[in-house]
Amino acid sequence: MVPDHYAVVYTEDARRIFVIISETLGDFVLTKDCSVSECTCIGCTLFSASILYDEEEFPILEMEQAQPVGENLVAYPFTDEGEVFLLSLKRELYKDYKGTLNKEKLDEIFRVPDAVLLIKNEADGTFTHTYVSPTVEGRVISKGCRAAPHCPCVGCRIVDMFYSERPGRYIPAVDTTAARASSEGELVLPVFEGEEIISKMLNRDPSIRHSFSSGLFDNSPLEKMFYELAFLDLHLYPQHPVGKYRLDFAIPDKRIAIELDGHEYHKTKFQRTHDAKRDRWLFGQGWNVLRFTGSEIYKDLDRCIDEICELVGVERLNRV
Ligand SMILES: [Zn+2]
Ligand SMILES: [Zn+2]
Repeated sequence: MVPDHYAVVYTEDARRIFVIISETLGDFVLTKDCSVSECTCIGCTLFSASILYDEEEFPILEMEQAQPVGENLVAYPFTDEGEVFLLSLKRELYKDYKGTLNKEKLDEIFRVPDAVLLIKNEADGTFTHTYVSPTVEGRVISKGCRAAPHCPCVGCRIVDMFYSERPGRYIPAVDTTAARASSEGELVLPVFEGEEIISKMLNRDPSIRHSFSSGLFDNSPLEKMFYELAFLDLHLYPQHPVGKYRLDFAIPDKRIAIELDGHEYHKTKFQRTHDAKRDRWLFGQGWNVLRFTGSEIYKDLDRCIDEICELVGVERLNRV
């Protein structure tokens, strides 16, 4: 069997270059600055560090299976356990560290994700998403996904999801730059941030309502409330610009605008005329505008989402 990932080392006098050859992550230079003797570069660290797994220590590289692959070139295959490190190597996390890499720093660099999203390519060309976390174990969360842009499935939306730890700071929940392939050929996307939020969301924990999108809808509790539930079934873009207008929510690939009229009673005649004009202009551009009043949303949010799903032609999977 040919391993998928190698560290190829070029040696020349007192210098070494480490290159990672990986079928799934692509090839990249790990370090050009190895000084060979008493060196603590990331390449030398890979040679000497081990990973603790189930109370057993495993090397990262198969030193005994080293193979010469050219003049001054030797290839070292990664061990199965050591493959975990590839994600972090690709993300170049080690670059933030100067000087000696100790065990503590290594643990931090070679961080194991809190959860993973597995994407399997089925024989019929569609994709099945499975979420694996300590509380969601291994649940299929969407089937029949075509992985098209703006795919409305929950799996694709988790891929696109941003996690907000505090207002103004957004982190992608899924680290797509650290994707790798599993031995079964599934795409493995690690989740380093927001695992708790995603798991709660998938477990329909009501406490999620107020922590999921903090900072996104500070000025509109109505939009926030709508988004936090509708997100599970509809691929929504908040504050989506079209021409000179900004839609409360848009499903761009279907050209559907969703407007929530929070303060209907207080609207002036001017505002109502403005809304009507805007709806007509959007209609001319091929957009359909679905309007909901604040009282409809507050009274029965589930029903509003049911209605949108039906109009949009999306099967509703997630109710509270
Ligand atoms: Zn070195
Ligand atoms: Zn999808």
